[in-house]
Amino acid sequence: MENEIYDIIIIGGGAAGLTAALYSARAGKSVLLLENTSFGGQISYSPEVENYPGFKSISGLDFSDRLLSQAVAAGAKTAFETALSVKCGEKFKTVTTDSGEHKCRAVIIAAGLKHRKIGLENEDRFTGKGISYCAVCDGSLFKNKRVAVYGGGNTAIEEALFLSDICESVTLIHRRNELRADNAEIKKLESKENIIYKLDCTVVSLNGESSLTSVTVKNSKTQKTEELKISALFTAIGQIPQNEAFKNIVKLDEYGFIESGEDCKTQTDGIFAAGDCRTKELRQLTTAVSDGAVAATAACKYTDLKNI
Ligand code: NAP
Repeated sequence: MENEIYDIIIIGGGAAGLTAALYSARAGKSVLLLENTSFGGQISYSPEVENYPGFKSISGLDFSDRLLSQAVAAGAKTAFETALSVKCGEKFKTVTTDSGEHKCRAVIIAAGLKHRKIGLENEDRFTGKGISYCAVCDGSLFKNKRVAVYGGGNTAIEEALFLSDICESVTLIHRRNELRADNAEIKKLESKENIIYKLDCTVVSLNGESSLTSVTVKNSKTQKTEELKISALFTAIGQIPQNEAFKNIVKLDEYGFIESGEDCKTQTDGIFAAGDCRTKELRQLTTAVSDGAVAATAACKYTDLKNI
């Protein structure tokens, strides 16, 4: 175990965690930012971010690289470690990782979420090249094109509604013949004229050379397969928050998100939650960076007030 006691440890190096690191370091705090795969998080997969204020267009990778440099230049220390647990002691908190233990005064959990993958060949290769997990982020790249949305929940229907206004057609592929989404959303979808339904269907292959050009779907009732020529598949088959390691220290809602308000405070003193990993209405780059700033400011105040 290392001897340094950090003011703030941030778990997760996506947009929320990086922003929290920037704000905490600029406030003069000693900061350790832990990331288990690569800095940038989900936004790194977005080839063009066109809805971040101040940038007409920027690649997600470029955006996260800039944010990482900014946080490091401000003094944040980074480490590639997976956080396994957080414990609250009388004075300090201990973050145990796959490499050891770190002590700190406050913790910001910004562990993000992962979109459930279909589990097919080419899925990773075509992500950002025809496979997307965010219509608001990438939809405009497929203006007037034929696209498909996979899933039958509220996210899928919202994605399909958004895309139906900008794309030639939207094929909704869902594994059952009944949508899981709320009735109000389904009604809105039914009022659209460019939605094609492929119900009782699963995607069985993702086809193309350098990018996605079609998907093959299989009808579970008829066992027939069909190739759908599309420019993009928006996958919305559920999201998996990365909060398992923290369920003993913060309260999770029924979907596994950390319960917290817009102040990013959790029910546990000195533990804050920022970005997609917490309960919230809108999961976007803008709201993630906003959370990072809010959580960092609250964590700085906490360490000052507690005089620890
Ligand atoms: P979700 O409700 O869990 O829906 C996931 C959909 O993907 C379901 O239709 C499911 O099919 C399908 N699916 C799951 N695994 C699959 C697989 N391996 N292959 C193919 N299909 C698969 O997820 P979500 O839509 O992301 O929503 C998550 C939560 O956030 C929900 O509670 C939702 O209501 C909420 N949400 C609310 C709003 C809103 O209120 N505005 C907006 C978005 C999300 P089955 O139906 O057959 O299980």
